[in-house]
Amino acid sequence: ENPSSFVGAPDTDYAEEEQRNEANLALQNVRQQLGRTYLPLINGEYVQTQQVVDSVNPSNFSEVVGKIGLLSVEQAEQAMQAAKAAFPAWRKTPVKERAGILRKAADLMEQRRAELSVWIVLEVGKPVREADGEVSEAIDFCRYYASEMERLDQGFNYDVAGETNRYIYQPRGIAVVISPWNFPLAIATGMTVAALVTGNCTLLKPAETSSVIAAKLTEVLVDAGFPKGVFQYVPGKGSQVGAYLVNHAYTHVIAFTGSQEVGCRIYADAAILKPGQKHMKRVIAEMGGKNAIIVDESADLDSAVVGVVQSAFGYSGQKCSACSRVIVLEPVYDTFVQRFVEATKSLNIGETELPSTQVGPVIDANARDRIREYIEKGKAEAKVALEMPAPDNGYFIGPVIFKDVPANGVIAQEEIFGPVVAVIKVKNFKEALEVANGTNYALTGGLYSRTPSHIEKAQDEFEVGNLYINRNITGAIVARQPFGGFKLSGVGSKAGGPDYLLQFTEPRTVTENI
Ligand code: NAD
Repeated sequence: ENPSSFVGAPDTDYAEEEQRNEANLALQNVRQQLGRTYLPLINGEYVQTQQVVDSVNPSNFSEVVGKIGLLSVEQAEQAMQAAKAAFPAWRKTPVKERAGILRKAADLMEQRRAELSVWIVLEVGKPVREADGEVSEAIDFCRYYASEMERLDQGFNYDVAGETNRYIYQPRGIAVVISPWNFPLAIATGMTVAALVTGNCTLLKPAETSSVIAAKLTEVLVDAGFPKGVFQYVPGKGSQVGAYLVNHAYTHVIAFTGSQEVGCRIYADAAILKPGQKHMKRVIAEMGGKNAIIVDESADLDSAVVGVVQSAFGYSGQKCSACSRVIVLEPVYDTFVQRFVEATKSLNIGETELPSTQVGPVIDANARDRIREYIEKGKAEAKVALEMPAPDNGYFIGPVIFKDVPANGVIAQEEIFGPVVAVIKVKNFKEALEVANGTNYALTGGLYSRTPSHIEKAQDEFEVGNLYINRNITGAIVARQPFGGFKLSGVGSKAGGPDYLLQFTEPRTVTENI
């Protein structure tokens, strides 16, 4: 299969009555199941734990979505031993079979699409259309990495007269996947199935606040047919179980997505050789962003306003790809700010299970408090153009727009991960690019312009992994916009792209004199 011919799973069409009804039915069904307990999966068994914590609905924190059994370090060790024991057979399992399990997982997710969306809506407060898009992305990761592995499995022949040269990819061993809460299904699925299809035994340590969804993914992967010990679900505290797995001598690959702080910590920890360890660990770390959209004087302001609103406030600004800085050229600055404020005012804020909601809550009390602190800092260094009210039964924060923000101000430099945008005024396009590149990050970026020389210069000089011209900067699609950043936004090659699986393999050359 030619990877460029990859066709993604279609999203639900909520304009169709039948699909809307299915979504409502799924919501009712899931509501009946709230509050159940989810346990870790070790060596094919769901095991009891000493510690159990509640995972709550951020739109309504009195609602317990599920109870999560948290693994102890001793149990994490048992999981490692099980992974080690399962590796020799998994390594030898034909790629066709491994890829087949991924495709089965994709089919199961497609069948459970409406239900999985509801779990995302309720556990992490994502509006339903975006949750549905996330299910599509998870399905796409399974199907795309299945065909990618079949492509790699063909290897290469570099034969010459009298000598064959085979270039092949073998699994590395044991992979530890550490996932964030903001794409609780798609990112956890992508990293996990990539590690599995390449032949590694894989332990999934999800973020604490999204462990119910990870438990749903576990059900899917078990039903799809991953053998015991090959895939294990190991929920626990990041600083404890996560760190234990990262530091373990058996770990070969760590696939992490999350904050810069934790990513850098893992990178450093992984570099230290442990007693008995005879290999170097490979770390893939996808980290944060401080993403900017530049609006120049030739931009179509109608589309710029729509694109910025979507990019900044979709999922309350809690996407690593979200726009948190808008850099606007002087001639259109006042008009843009005014129209941006007006457009933002029309957003519906509320519980994410309501189909009309466009902006839901933020993930938890810590996030809410951290974002509020940033809003206070913003007030000290810039002008408030808009501060919207929000309900108080959940962890809601209304969108906030700051204008006249200094390019090196705190709110223009640090990742806030909430619905807070810094608008920065610049004199010319050269300054716009300097400001855009003036952070530690390089994840996504955007440009609204009808000036060909600006578009060309941005392609060349805008330091981001994913550049979007004249459109919103979120919502990368598997195999169409391979996703990931550089500088302090990450290390490793792009998720959903042709180089991704290579990171989970060990290439070998076998030469035979004939
Ligand atoms: P986080 O860094 O707080 O947590 C991520 C994961 O790391 C969790 O599973 C956590 O339990 C675990 N962890 C925490 N401390 C650990 C330690 N010492 N050792 C091992 N594991 C540990 O991030 P988060 O709040 O879940 O996610 C939000 C962040 O993720 C944002 O910064 C966002 O930009 C980033 N993100 C990046 C991408 C990308 O593709 N670049 C995608 C999504 C999110």
